[in-house]
Amino acid sequence: MLPPAIIASCQEIIKGNITLARPVAGGDINRAYHVETPECSYFIKTNTASWAGQMFEAEAKGLRALNSPCILRTPAVLGFGSTSDGSYLLLEFIETSYRPDVFWEKFGAALAKLHRSTAPGFGFDHDNFIGSLPQRNHHHDDWPTFYTEERLLPQLKITKQQNLLQTRDFQQFDLLFKKLPDLCPKEPPALTHGDLWSGNFLCDAQGQPVLIDPAASYSHREMDLAMSRLFGGFERPFYRSYEEEWPLEPGFEHRLPIYQLYFLLVHVNLFGGGYVRSVREVLAGYV
Ligand code: ADP
Repeated sequence: MLPPAIIASCQEIIKGNITLARPVAGGDINRAYHVETPECSYFIKTNTASWAGQMFEAEAKGLRALNSPCILRTPAVLGFGSTSDGSYLLLEFIETSYRPDVFWEKFGAALAKLHRSTAPGFGFDHDNFIGSLPQRNHHHDDWPTFYTEERLLPQLKITKQQNLLQTRDFQQFDLLFKKLPDLCPKEPPALTHGDLWSGNFLCDAQGQPVLIDPAASYSHREMDLAMSRLFGGFERPFYRSYEEEWPLEPGFEHRLPIYQLYFLLVHVNLFGGGYVRSVREVLAGYV
């Protein structure tokens, strides 16, 4: 049931009466609802955690940032806030359809174009979340420092607090940090989705890709491609058209697991020790 205080707050924003609220499955962290007024459909995410208000504000900013180059669609952000019944994010409801044949090609090319959106440094104008974990986005001029300081070290701090890795693992990470400048190509900071797995995009009624649930930042563009391949990968035409639009530097296959390390550490911290083996396998390939 959508809680009454959240209904009241959303009704104020949309200036209409919510007549129906159906739970939507598929989310990892939040409760989600397809909501209707007599005039329109909306999508509402809710969460009662103390940090959820910050999380939804960051998600709203990320969706708006990804939408601003007008390359890939994101749901319009209508509002967010915290009430006595928890926090919420109110979005445009995206009607979905089956993916047409050209879907993956369009998506790959569009992501490459989105990645051309750049900034003076790696980072973002606000910190955000990856899943339910905080993600820092302090500015750094170079990728290896950003990746070490803002991505890997904060996750390693959490694994340490939870005793999920051993001293030898931390030593291997230290060795990897020193090698990063030689492993990753120097490229301009790219506007990235930040958590691009198969659950974080939709195909709208016109057959166009729609990005949802981002952990956006100006990052290395190869991060999005690495996340997309963590669990099986997207369809081939996606990667082919990405590279037609903006080829990757040689050696991507060799460095792909380095980018996946961050997402694996996030999985270790969110879902426990099962992912530790994968982290160790990646480290063994470089140190
Ligand atoms: P969580 O933050 O809990 O991971 P998601 O943002 O992934 O939640 O949303 C849960 C599910 O709801 C998604 O898998 C998707 O199918 C659907 N969804 C997300 N945003 C929208 C939207 N704006 N319109 C329609 N469906 C959506």
